[in-house]
Amino acid sequence: MSLTQFNHELFDFLKSATTPFHAVQYLTKLLVQAGYSELHEKDAWQTKPGKGYYCIRDNGTILIFKIASARKCETGWKMLAAHTDSPSLQIKPQPANTSNSYTQLGVEVYGGPILATWFDRDLGIAGRVTLLDQENTIRVKTIDFKRAVAMLPNLAIHLNREVNEKYSIKRQKHLHPLFCQIADETFSFHDVLQQQIEEEYPEISTKIVLGFDLFCYDTQEPELTGLNREFIAASRLDNLVSCFIGIKSMLQDATEGNCLLLCSNHEEIGSSSVSGAQGNFLHSVLTRLIPDATKRARMFSCSHFISMDNAHALHPNFIEKYDPQHLPLLNHGPVIKYNANQRYATTSRSAALFKSLCIAANVPVQEFVMQNDLACGSTIGPIVATSLGIQTVDVGIPSLAMHSIRESTGAKDPYMLSKVIDLFLSRPL
Ligand SMILES: [Zn+2]
Repeated sequence: MSLTQFNHELFDFLKSATTPFHAVQYLTKLLVQAGYSELHEKDAWQTKPGKGYYCIRDNGTILIFKIASARKCETGWKMLAAHTDSPSLQIKPQPANTSNSYTQLGVEVYGGPILATWFDRDLGIAGRVTLLDQENTIRVKTIDFKRAVAMLPNLAIHLNREVNEKYSIKRQKHLHPLFCQIADETFSFHDVLQQQIEEEYPEISTKIVLGFDLFCYDTQEPELTGLNREFIAASRLDNLVSCFIGIKSMLQDATEGNCLLLCSNHEEIGSSSVSGAQGNFLHSVLTRLIPDATKRARMFSCSHFISMDNAHALHPNFIEKYDPQHLPLLNHGPVIKYNANQRYATTSRSAALFKSLCIAANVPVQEFVMQNDLACGSTIGPIVATSLGIQTVDVGIPSLAMHSIRESTGAKDPYMLSKVIDLFLSRPL
């Protein structure tokens, strides 16, 4: 596949995956087209060699796997992970408050967004709604307004003269997106949701909306930018890019051996949840595939895990924030992330596998370590390494403005990492 086609499909995914639930839905569509079968955790499973499967937990996490045709489950697996969630503003359960003709929405801060970037953007709302239908069945449906329905205007500089020098955003006071302007105070957010459900699902007759997990998102579409279109600017690059790279590699014809991809929700809030990577989902699925504990332990010991999450590229205006020997650049290839305190799971051993793949794929590779005066972030890699005891390497595309509403990376970077992951899944361990 050409770079242009790859980025075209990536942009399509970024546009559609406005929430973790929509990301999983999009991936599911690709898997069904490719002949993968869905497995439900409540059922007994009959898996066959040479076949591909996926299992979804709580709508926002998906585990995709392919069992080798000629080898047994207990031989080594090639494993990939990424996360489906991004920092956001999540709508509170009773969000609407109306005064001075404005109806505003109460939101909580989900994860660690750069809050200032959420002001003066055209915000859509999307997520998951639970409802009771006319047959008294509880249903779960995704909705997406697919247009700007909210905004968080900045205060004019004339009323806030210090905005460019010092200004702190008070989360409870300042984060109330404007949603609509109405004459009376009988407005019901739940009625608005019911209308949206009827629009998206005419076949469903809703009796009552019971609850929701809804998020604001930026409606601006991904763009190639820079004079020579050498950069990508988009929302949710962290970490939808890695989910996309993972699914493209899983769906290539030439996979070899047992492979899996975990696209997990709730990484941005620490991964502790029913569907987060600290939960039992991955272990539970592997236990069903390899029930014998000894065989499973043997499998873990000869498997390899590549955890993909974006890395910090050098920001040329803030060079003092970086270690001078470790300055990843956009369009210079994937980044291996190291931390002596194992906030990243990379070891020299696990890095060696990734470097050898880069050499074989003819893709340049970069290395990142946080400078010593700054605390290091973390990701799914150390969680998997700790809970399963599998050799794990943390890698990612170099990116700028991580956790801004609009992040950036190099136009070639997702494609280059994808070449390496393709090779990981297509050659013997
Ligand atoms: Zn991330």
